Amino acid sequence: MKGSDVKKIAVMGAGAMGNGIAQNGILAGYTVAMRDIEQRFVDKGVETIKASLAKFVGKGKISQDLSDQAFSRLIPIVDLAAAVKDADLIIEAAPEDLFLKKKIFAEIDSLAPAHAILASNTSTMSITEIASATKRPEQVVGMHFFNPAVLLKLVEVIYGNKSSDTAIQATFEVAKKMGKIPVIVRKDSPGFIYNRVNAPTGLLLQRILELGSPTPEQFDAVFKPLMPMTPFELVDYVGLDIFLHTQEYYAETLSKDYTPTRALADIVNSGRLGMKTGRGLYDWSGGRPQIDTSNPTTEYDPTHMIALQVNEATKLLEEGVVDDPKDIDLAMANGGGGIGPFALAQGIGYDKLVEKCNELADKFGIEVFRPTTTMKKGKIQI
Ligand code: NAD
Repeated sequence: MKGSDVKKIAVMGAGAMGNGIAQNGILAGYTVAMRDIEQRFVDKGVETIKASLAKFVGKGKISQDLSDQAFSRLIPIVDLAAAVKDADLIIEAAPEDLFLKKKIFAEIDSLAPAHAILASNTSTMSITEIASATKRPEQVVGMHFFNPAVLLKLVEVIYGNKSSDTAIQATFEVAKKMGKIPVIVRKDSPGFIYNRVNAPTGLLLQRILELGSPTPEQFDAVFKPLMPMTPFELVDYVGLDIFLHTQEYYAETLSKDYTPTRALADIVNSGRLGMKTGRGLYDWSGGRPQIDTSNPTTEYDPTHMIALQVNEATKLLEEGVVDDPKDIDLAMANGGGGIGPFALAQGIGYDKLVEKCNELADKFGIEVFRPTTTMKKGKIQI
């Protein structure tokens, strides 16, 4: 099946990601069945889409007419069989639980047309593993949107070990039609592209927390003039429990170096989870924290973070997860960041970044930070 043959999409889950994906689909002209397990969850998803479309109209991004037409293509539904029976592409955005996802894929495999592509929006689960619950693993792919899915452009289109080129290509085309920037991930690998490139900087943050110096505020003070949200503030925003969970996942899949430190576990156990509890590393009780920039650390600068990102990006090339460094820059620039790591590296110079990687690897005794062969060769130009 080609991408242009896709007319109807079914989305499994009407939560934060599901309703965003469904909205992308209806705006691109697809008929979209948005399915959840209870009517109240479906209704909530519909309300979110309504409000978001109204915002788009209010900002002049789309006309009222287009909004009305798009909304008329949405089919809110609880009945699973009816949702998938004539779907060409099914995108699963149910909770991040492997057992649940496998159950859903087994069900939709038995109910969906034989030609349908089954995609998962999982952030961390193996596409190969999910596909194993079906009798059509060659038609199972990853289709990873970023939050908020209606705004962020990146969609990682991920190969499981049996995914066919045709299924990947069709999914890629659908993402394009949704106005997204799809990037192909050749190998089912932890963190795919965007989250993987950011993995070692998260590790650096948790190690700094463990050392207790500099303080999150002294560290963030360096980044405040450069970023809309500074690194530790972002950890608070995402939630320290989620951050801990991610580090645990990387400890299991990438390297033991990621094993959560005592300091991180203690903060989470104390219930200071960040923005959602009003307190984390910062006090959020009065809204977004005011970061004091008068006392920045002199121990770290932005090139430390960039060095780790570029280094991790080279691992994706060495491991064959991505073929072309341009794809990594495209993914990083459209998943939430600004400029891609390789473009930054060209400006800064690989020698300097290799030095920073070695400095951090020695300081913390962490091999994940050690520069790769590709990094040391310093030849990647884009
Ligand atoms: P969510 O909890 O907001 O929504 C999940 C929805 O799925 C809920 O409404 C739930 O009722 C529904 N659901 C449960 N069982 C179902 C079933 N059998 N069939 C259909 N729906 C079912 O979660 P979310 O944040 O939207 O995340 C969904 C997926 O997207 C997860 O795999 C997550 O890892 C991934 N993801 C999340 C983000 C993010 O930032 N939130 C970003 C990218 C990817």
